Amino acid sequence: MLYKSTRGKIKNVPFKDVLFSGLAPDGGLYIPEKLPDPELFDIGTFSEKKYEEIAQIILKPFVGNLFDDLQFDNITKKAYSKFKIPNKCELVSLSEDHMLLELFHGPTYAFKDFAMQMIAQMFQEALKKIKKSINIIVATSGDTGAAAVNAFRNLENINLFVLYPNNRISEIQKRQMTTVDSSNIKIFSVDGTFDDCQTIVKTIFNDANLSKKISLTGVNSINWARIISQVVYYCFAASRIDSQKKINFCIPTGNFGNIYAGYIAKRIGTNIDKLIVATNLNDILHRTITTGCYLKDKVYKTHSPSMDIQVSSNFERLLYDIYKKPNIVNKQMEELKSNGFYQIEDNSLSKLKEDFSSGVATEEETLSEILNVYKKSNIAICPHTAVGTFVSRKFLNNNKVMITLATAHPSKFIDSVQTALGMTIVQPNEMKELYSKKESVIDAPNEVNFFKNILSKES
Ligand SMILES: *Cc1c(COP(=O)(O)O)cnc(C)c1O
Repeated sequence: MLYKSTRGKIKNVPFKDVLFSGLAPDGGLYIPEKLPDPELFDIGTFSEKKYEEIAQIILKPFVGNLFDDLQFDNITKKAYSKFKIPNKCELVSLSEDHMLLELFHGPTYAFKDFAMQMIAQMFQEALKKIKKSINIIVATSGDTGAAAVNAFRNLENINLFVLYPNNRISEIQKRQMTTVDSSNIKIFSVDGTFDDCQTIVKTIFNDANLSKKISLTGVNSINWARIISQVVYYCFAASRIDSQKKINFCIPTGNFGNIYAGYIAKRIGTNIDKLIVATNLNDILHRTITTGCYLKDKVYKTHSPSMDIQVSSNFERLLYDIYKKPNIVNKQMEELKSNGFYQIEDNSLSKLKEDFSSGVATEEETLSEILNVYKKSNIAICPHTAVGTFVSRKFLNNNKVMITLATAHPSKFIDSVQTALGMTIVQPNEMKELYSKKESVIDAPNEVNFFKNILSKES
């Protein structure tokens, strides 16, 4: 399979180059030249198959011939080896025809593990082939960094640099990164916000000489390989549901990565009706789907910090799909840059609404939803998941099954969950042990040159 950019200037790119790059050179995002034909996947047979098998079937056409069968087998085996349950994810019933898809049984207790473990193994295998080493730099608001540290620790030919905003991530998230002792990983606590970290990373990527010299690589959620790794659990979950019933998925959303994977799952033939965007107060996507106007607001700090984001990068991929014209994508991205907004025209918006619906949960609604679910179903959910279940309630429908994605383990956001429940909850031992482990972290100023200096010493 070959890939092209949403901005139209880059075409016929093999998966190998897509895997190791964040943005396409014209500033756009990579998408397939053409999605595979649904018949290729034989989705009807998935109900009998294990998670790993489904992963191989889904991923293969996207990855193409970069790996042979043996290598690919090896990659999938290793990628899921640290998951705590045989099915990797779990469907749990909340009420009749409303389920949670628990995606937090990976090593760092959030759904980010699914994609990060997979691309780490793909990187490792591909680098063996091309005999190269790379440097990865990533900014994190918590979960991505933790997932990356776990996935890339002790891998050969890969160095990982993680930037997080000092005092703005949870204690568990911080310790999941700082207590991993691995010579190829460095963690920086930056004196600034997540946006500052993100700006530093973007500025470094824009330094073409440095990027090239040290083979700088991105693993944030716009990386296409992360998206396709996430398609798998939509297909797996759908295969476990009565095929007579259509499924709506409700997805707590920030950067539009996870939900875009659900959209791809639908396009390749999975039995999905609507994909429901669930946002916290940072509701740019809900407003866009409601009014067609994509308008940046300020970032609000909420109980669901992994969704505190105002620029949903992956949304550009959907824009391309509704317009099919790179020049309109280009124009709207220019408008966003210069005016702070763009407008989706009515007929394109109607097209978008065939696949997507949306809703918001306020801070109060999020906390009371955590309590409600606990009272009704005796399940503690994380604040991101609560945004999802709250919104999904408005779309429950007798003829359809609703699956809300549970994106993180409640103990990862223990303070908010305990506040909501008015009682203490038990953390897994593995999380408790993090408090007694030695931390290793570098305090860093909010200055790009500090990082350029460090990185220029790599080769
Ligand atoms: C990253 C994250 C999200 C948002 O996912 P996107 O792919 O950015 O939409 C939601 N919940 C949790 C727990 C996360 O870590």
